[in-house]
Amino acid sequence: MISILQACCSTRSSLNWLSVGLVCALLLAACSSPRDHTLDFLALGTEVSVSLYAVSEGQAEDASEQLQSYFARVGLDWYPWNPGELRAINIAIELQESADVSPRLAAVIRRAAQIERLSDNRFNAGLGRVTERWGLHALGDEPPRLPHSNEIAKLLAQAMGVASVRWIDDQIVGAPPGLMLDLGGIAKGAILEDSVQILQNLEINNAIINIGGDLTVIGDVNGRPANIGIRSPVEESAIASVDIVAGETVVTSGDYERFIEIDGKRYSHILNPRTGHPVEHTSAVTVIHTDAMLADAAATALMVGGSEEFEHLTKALELEFALLIDASGDLRLTPSMDLRLNWID
Ligand code: AMP
Ligand code: MG
Repeated sequence: MISILQACCSTRSSLNWLSVGLVCALLLAACSSPRDHTLDFLALGTEVSVSLYAVSEGQAEDASEQLQSYFARVGLDWYPWNPGELRAINIAIELQESADVSPRLAAVIRRAAQIERLSDNRFNAGLGRVTERWGLHALGDEPPRLPHSNEIAKLLAQAMGVASVRWIDDQIVGAPPGLMLDLGGIAKGAILEDSVQILQNLEINNAIINIGGDLTVIGDVNGRPANIGIRSPVEESAIASVDIVAGETVVTSGDYERFIEIDGKRYSHILNPRTGHPVEHTSAVTVIHTDAMLADAAATALMVGGSEEFEHLTKALELEFALLIDASGDLRLTPSMDLRLNWID
């Protein structure tokens, strides 16, 4: 924009002042008139892509600045292996001390506890120590080694979920000392919710916020719903597409997304809280819901429950739209999801 204005003003000598003013005003109007923008950045160990429809330069700049600083903050505060709030809470639990929790993080932890209960603990946001032992977050330089089943059993005995945390207002006053909060299964949902709020505060009414394939739609895409591809668990291509309308979130959990390799075998980053072992029976789950935190946590819970528990869990979690692909490629769908998907041959 600046270069266009300079070019415009350097032609002054050959035009009269009125026409210069008119041309500059027209160029300015063209530059500041609403248009589509895409903001791409890396955060939370993944690619974030935010599409903004019909917004001004100023709105796009503010959105970029505010979203990136928000993502940087939650990347520290909500990831238990970074030096931030959640790590401080986990240290306090280990030392059996009380911990003050900021209101937003307290709300996320409480929501996680509700979903643990509704999912019969298939979703369990207290598996941090087990996750750590498996090396699922690849923290150290050492290659991960297969844990002994006694080690896992010992860690699992204290991983009773965030529902076992005792609160006084927004202060955690008690929890099993071996409990380590890991909100990795629900955090993206909460971050999508907060990102919607940030954009709406900037009066951005049409956008898609996409965090590594999990996304929320605000408004529409130039008058139409967002048409989203659902990825095949075995290759990069889409197996189906679906229209996502205003306020909906679509989340996919899959064993291809994040995994580790031990002795040449791939292990999913999603653990079965009953066994402490990575899930092997499910390849991918997609959930669509207007509640982003529920969509995220439910996708993780359905990965754990597998085909066998699909019907029970989708009812218990009140999921209208869910799809599960098991390890042998067989599908399970809720009836409404079946009606909604457009399969790609
Ligand atoms: P997602 O990609 O949403 O399925 O979340 C996976 C992340 O959640 C993992 O990387 C772990 O940090 C954490 N996690 C693993 N297993 C579970 C589980 N059964 N319940 C809740 N969180 C889990
Ligand atoms: Mg999840």
